[in-house]
Amino acid sequence: MGLPPEHRFPVSKYRLIRESLQKDSRFTFHPAPLATRDELARAHDPHYVDAVIHGTLTPAAIRRIGFPWSPQLVQRTLASAGATLAATQTALTINVSGALAGGTHHAFYAEGSGFCVFNDIAVAIAHLRATTTLTRFSVIDLDVHQGDGTAQIFANDPEVLTLSLHGQNNFPFRKQQSTIDVALPDHTNDAEYLAALEEVLPKAFAHNPDFVFYQSGVDPLKEDTLGKLDLTMAGLKTRDEMVFTAVRRHAAPLVITIGGGYANPIELTAAAHAQTYQLCASLFFS
Ligand SMILES: [Zn+2]
Repeated sequence: MGLPPEHRFPVSKYRLIRESLQKDSRFTFHPAPLATRDELARAHDPHYVDAVIHGTLTPAAIRRIGFPWSPQLVQRTLASAGATLAATQTALTINVSGALAGGTHHAFYAEGSGFCVFNDIAVAIAHLRATTTLTRFSVIDLDVHQGDGTAQIFANDPEVLTLSLHGQNNFPFRKQQSTIDVALPDHTNDAEYLAALEEVLPKAFAHNPDFVFYQSGVDPLKEDTLGKLDLTMAGLKTRDEMVFTAVRRHAAPLVITIGGGYANPIELTAAAHAQTYQLCASLFFS
């Protein structure tokens, strides 16, 4: 991505997750295709898409994203959205798939924010609407940060339910309105978190989605340096299990994206992300 060495974005976790899952023969890997300009422009302002690709964003717009613009950043950004698109296409056939990136939920219709350039899940929903007869979607966003971009993009779209459980004192400090928001206080523990999830999760399925997206950010982990919640690895596992069990019962296709995770050491974050995918394989493919 051409980031300076002191940048806080944890680039190494992506490689660590892949290396960990490659030891597990249940997974098949495909290199991410690059999302095209037209695929991105289904969900985003075409002028914004062009400005990202051609490097003509304003300095303020680049600062809000939090990455310096570079040709490598564009490649990485297109591959990240492309991975979610490819996973979406695959899930139509085998029911469950995932991207080892994505969940870039702070990207709005016409601007990026918080390490998110394009909103991959919004791009995937627009793709499904353009290429299939599916119309109803649920986005389950359990990253510790509110899915503000996703909430804004679908604010006036009753066929897309957005559910966000997040830390009330975590970024973004000006929250948007999701279909369902649960703002949790600092130091929320496993039991409190799981009780809150249990209460709202059925609503994501009462919506009767044709397709489910899971933003499975692991930054609610106690050791996370950005999140303010106190979940354990076991708590995250139960959280994921609740989501997967509900998706299985509803029998809609599922795409998982990884979202955030900034623990110190970063190996802990990578292990938490790998745990999500391993649990998914156990529940759906064993
Ligand atoms: Zn996050």
